[in-house]
Amino acid sequence: MDLRSLTQEQLKEEMLKIGEKPFRAKQIFDWLHIKQVGSFDEMTNLSKALRDKLSQNYSISDIKIAEKLISKQDNTIKYLFELENGIIIESVLMRYSYGNTVCISSQAGCRMGCRFCASTVDGLERSLSAGEMLLQIYKISQDTGERVGHVVIMGSGEPLDNYDNLLDFIRITGEGIGIGQRHITVSTCGLVDKINELAKLKLQITLAISLHAPNDEIRRQTMPIANKYGIDELIAAARAYADTTKRRVTFEYALIKGLNDSTENAAELADRLKGGLFHVNLIPVNDVKENNYLRSDEHTIKAFAQTLSSKGIETTVRRRLGSDINAACGQLRKRYKEKKVLENDSSR
Ligand code: SAH
Repeated sequence: MDLRSLTQEQLKEEMLKIGEKPFRAKQIFDWLHIKQVGSFDEMTNLSKALRDKLSQNYSISDIKIAEKLISKQDNTIKYLFELENGIIIESVLMRYSYGNTVCISSQAGCRMGCRFCASTVDGLERSLSAGEMLLQIYKISQDTGERVGHVVIMGSGEPLDNYDNLLDFIRITGEGIGIGQRHITVSTCGLVDKINELAKLKLQITLAISLHAPNDEIRRQTMPIANKYGIDELIAAARAYADTTKRRVTFEYALIKGLNDSTENAAELADRLKGGLFHVNLIPVNDVKENNYLRSDEHTIKAFAQTLSSKGIETTVRRRLGSDINAACGQLRKRYKEKKVLENDSSR
């Protein structure tokens, strides 16, 4: 069992199980999440006997930087991390005027199959533990010497497909490095059952839903999940979520040339979202050559945004950071894996 993936409460239970005093939990928690050490031997306020006992019974997750790319355009840094067994995930540090945001992965790969997304190409390798999600933030903070104030779970993977670990991650970030729920955004392709479950917890996180279409017909062309949950059901769940939590829900909408970017599409979208505590974030799509998905033209993006705004829908267009370092949507991890395959082939 990985101690870094446990909340303080869970750590206390473990200490009781092995006959230790509950206050040990707080000491160990601080080592793992404040001082962020990687081994029991570094926990110097614990006796050697206790450290030995812990290492016999438990493990501590760790990840290491495999590659790092710094954008010349905007100081965005892309990290590739290696987990156990050589599994690769990616994270991004984005520097905004209000502070640093880290975009983390929740799974290695993904099984949702969105056709514009590079993370899904080889399917799901495995879900990440809470510790592995936290470590992406810790390592980036250590590497840059800078504080991280915001986290967006928009790297590879579907966070609501790794629901229990996601919740532990959110609790531990609050207890440890003190990133409050209001500074955490969870992005989902729209698992309606899980959104309903999440609403009941009344967390203060921001929920972002990848919509990417104004209706089922278009959504089903790019997102297999749209065959399971219809768009009306999804938007109803978002309405209920906003009602229960009083938190504004973001809809992400990647604009793909000729597919979902007409002003008629915008008008239909506005009608569907009318009256909700919603925000639409338009994302000029990162080209996916394999599928011929191209970014919409500048004027099309503007017209789309204006149509939404004029119909009373709060709308922003996402700035593109780190485009020179493939800092988007699983692209770097994919390239890295392809490169490794090539290297391995040529060394044979
Ligand atoms: N599985 C979650 C979170 C990871 S993806 C989700 O679907 O929301 C984070 C965001 O990047 C999603 O909105 C996703 O649809 C979007 N995305 C994926 N590939 C993209 C691409 N090529 N261009 C623009 N956005 C993309």
